[in-house]
Amino acid sequence: MNTENDRNDRNVNWSGIADQYGTPAYVYDGDGLVENFRELRAALHPGLEIFYSLKANPNRSVYELLRAAGAGAEVSSLAELRTALAVGTSPRDILFLGPGKSTEEIAAAVDARIYGIVCESFGELDLIERCARERGVRQRVLLRINPAYSVTGSRLTMGGRPRQFGIDEAALSAAHDLGSRYQHAHIAGIQVYMGTRILDEEIIVKNTAYVLDLADRVAAATGVPLEVVDIGGGMGVAYFDGEHDLDVTELAKQLNPLLDTFASTHPDTRMIMESGRYLTARFGTYLMRVRYTKESMGERFAVTDGGTHHHMAAVGIGSFVKRNFPIELLAGESDSETPGPWNVTGPLCTPNDTVAKNAQLPPLHRGDLLGVHRSGAYGPTASPVFFLSHGYPAEVVLLGGRSFLARTRDTVDDLLSRQPEHALGSYVQG
Ligand SMILES: *Cc1c(COP(=O)(O)O)cnc(C)c1O
Repeated sequence: MNTENDRNDRNVNWSGIADQYGTPAYVYDGDGLVENFRELRAALHPGLEIFYSLKANPNRSVYELLRAAGAGAEVSSLAELRTALAVGTSPRDILFLGPGKSTEEIAAAVDARIYGIVCESFGELDLIERCARERGVRQRVLLRINPAYSVTGSRLTMGGRPRQFGIDEAALSAAHDLGSRYQHAHIAGIQVYMGTRILDEEIIVKNTAYVLDLADRVAAATGVPLEVVDIGGGMGVAYFDGEHDLDVTELAKQLNPLLDTFASTHPDTRMIMESGRYLTARFGTYLMRVRYTKESMGERFAVTDGGTHHHMAAVGIGSFVKRNFPIELLAGESDSETPGPWNVTGPLCTPNDTVAKNAQLPPLHRGDLLGVHRSGAYGPTASPVFFLSHGYPAEVVLLGGRSFLARTRDTVDDLLSRQPEHALGSYVQG
């Protein structure tokens, strides 16, 4: 992996940002986000629409940039739906997805007249039907299918095993009257998500071929029209040594003919792809300041103000040997000296709070700034931000040579104010 080419290596005044916004903070390269989206957009078949999975990074400003560049929204909670609507996404470009939607969420999606709810169970289908009937409307529904087939090459496989997601391919194919069973839930297509962190172009092409074929088979078996096919996504980025980023040109070369064939036989079918990680991961840096340096039993530690409560992915859960995210000394006393092994840890009282183990870094000192790159996806929102009551970090967007505060950090008062002062009344004797 070569992160030298990352766009977040633009001439950034890291010390200035740290002084202005404080640390720890997430810093996003807004120009990079937009350029990357445009490149992907230009490479892929023009008929394939790209929807951003807000789950990967729900920051409103981050999505606002992607939205302006042409991304739709794939949302999975009421807050994400509200975010998408607040930045002016046309309801026509919103999908709501998730295995456990509440009645309130379904109602909000119907009320907002979003394009489609991706339905994950027959129980949910009944609820959508009821909700749309109460409002006297029809709501378009995409059925999420748990495919009988499983791919290799994804870091988190979805298909081919029991899952809480979607409806089993076999169960669907047996539902012959599905196209006419509901009056208000307008079943109009399918969605399949095969897994995440896929770094092999060929796997994405194979998945897509499978989904497009499955769409036809399900439509034929159930009488459901194919107004839309959502082929999922899961495009990965390289994080660790030995991994390589997807080659979008190569992907397009293999994928576009497939989509072209489908589009020509299904001219009225919307083709949608979802992407979270690929659109944001490379454009975020987690900025931390070194608080203490020390040695323990021959190993060097830099204890920073940032940690795994903001960046759980850096712990490397799920892999036997800890692998480090790309980490760099961004501003420090001796950034030109010979690197050596450092453990970079945080303020949490657990040995798991290790952001990097044996990372090659120049000699570190109190006050130095470290950055964990490729951290723009599944960062704080996918981390235990309340551990030790530290709360959410600040988020900053760099754009056109300027910096913008995109989220204020949680203050101690923010955190304490959620707990009523005398919740237990007179039961606790002062
Ligand atoms: C998480 C998720 C995504 C986004 O996945 P990435 O790997 O971040 O692109 C898309 N679709 C579904 C159904 C998901 O659960």
